[in-house]
Amino acid sequence: MQPVAISEPKIGIAKRIWQTLRRGRIYYWPIRTLVQLGFFLLFAGLAIARLNPSFDGARSWVVLPVVASVKAQGGIGSTLDATTLLLSQAVFPWLPIGIMFVVGAVLGRFMCGWICPVGFLQDVITGIKGRVDSVQTRTNEYWIRLKYVLVGITFLISGTLGLALYYGVGSDYKQSLGSDLASGLFIAITPDGTLFGTLPVLLAHSWRFLGTAQASDLSAANLGSWLGSISALTWINILILIGFIYAAWRIPRFWCRYICPVGGIMAVFQKNSLLGMHRDPIKCSNCKECETACPMQIPILDLDWKKFNDSECILCMACIDACPAGALSPKFP
Ligand code: SF4
Ligand code: SF4
Repeated sequence: MQPVAISEPKIGIAKRIWQTLRRGRIYYWPIRTLVQLGFFLLFAGLAIARLNPSFDGARSWVVLPVVASVKAQGGIGSTLDATTLLLSQAVFPWLPIGIMFVVGAVLGRFMCGWICPVGFLQDVITGIKGRVDSVQTRTNEYWIRLKYVLVGITFLISGTLGLALYYGVGSDYKQSLGSDLASGLFIAITPDGTLFGTLPVLLAHSWRFLGTAQASDLSAANLGSWLGSISALTWINILILIGFIYAAWRIPRFWCRYICPVGGIMAVFQKNSLLGMHRDPIKCSNCKECETACPMQIPILDLDWKKFNDSECILCMACIDACPAGALSPKFP
């Protein structure tokens, strides 16, 4: 009897499991997924806890260079949010800036690949889609600059506000910005703030309303006035969240590539970080499987094989898993 030939599955997770079993190698993706999931649950779990009326939130006990909005009130905060919040109180943000320097110098953008809940959400969306699409190289390189512009705008708003307040002339400026924008541009608009902060609060309010409402309260007029009570910023946040999901479906790590200011700041450190990647030119057959698997579209084969630290590399190790020759590895220092 002829052995039955089983062909390699074509889509994401099934393909990965197949390759893991077939090649009998240690792969990074299961470990990374577990780490990302653990951190994600830390955020999502706290967001769900907010549905409980008696839950009054928790203070961040550590800040890391990831997107973790203060609106979500999780155990982990973002160094960027901490920076803009402190500036809005005329305090120089020594600690969050110091953390960005130390983490960036040692690990570069590792936290983007392994810890950030917004990065994880995008990876899940790409995983569901089952393939890593790419963008035209010139278009990609052009739009990558957008996140540096957004870093500039963020610091322009928060830096000038901090200075004005420090010299005692900023209260009108702060008032004209409004409390959301004064806290920081990205505190006001990040999708994780909407997902883990704004939406759970909105849901909790609706839940309580529905729980105590009589049948006569559920009229079209009441529903209209309830919808009208939702602020313009909340609607903008919801639209940004929908746009974020759609963009992540079309382009892997869209937010990280073109929008995220934390990614933009850490990209500067990534260029010289101790942790980088190595490609063995003897094992490498130039098959480009690594480049095809890379969610950040890094031109791996064009980079220095001894150690490469592309500013867009998030050290996710997907290229290592994809390489059939085992030519890639992390390099430290
Ligand atoms: S670039 Fe992506 S992974 Fe990195 S902090 Fe921003 S959202 Fe998170
Ligand atoms: S080069 Fe490798 S480690 Fe860096 S982002 Fe691409 S797949 Fe991830």
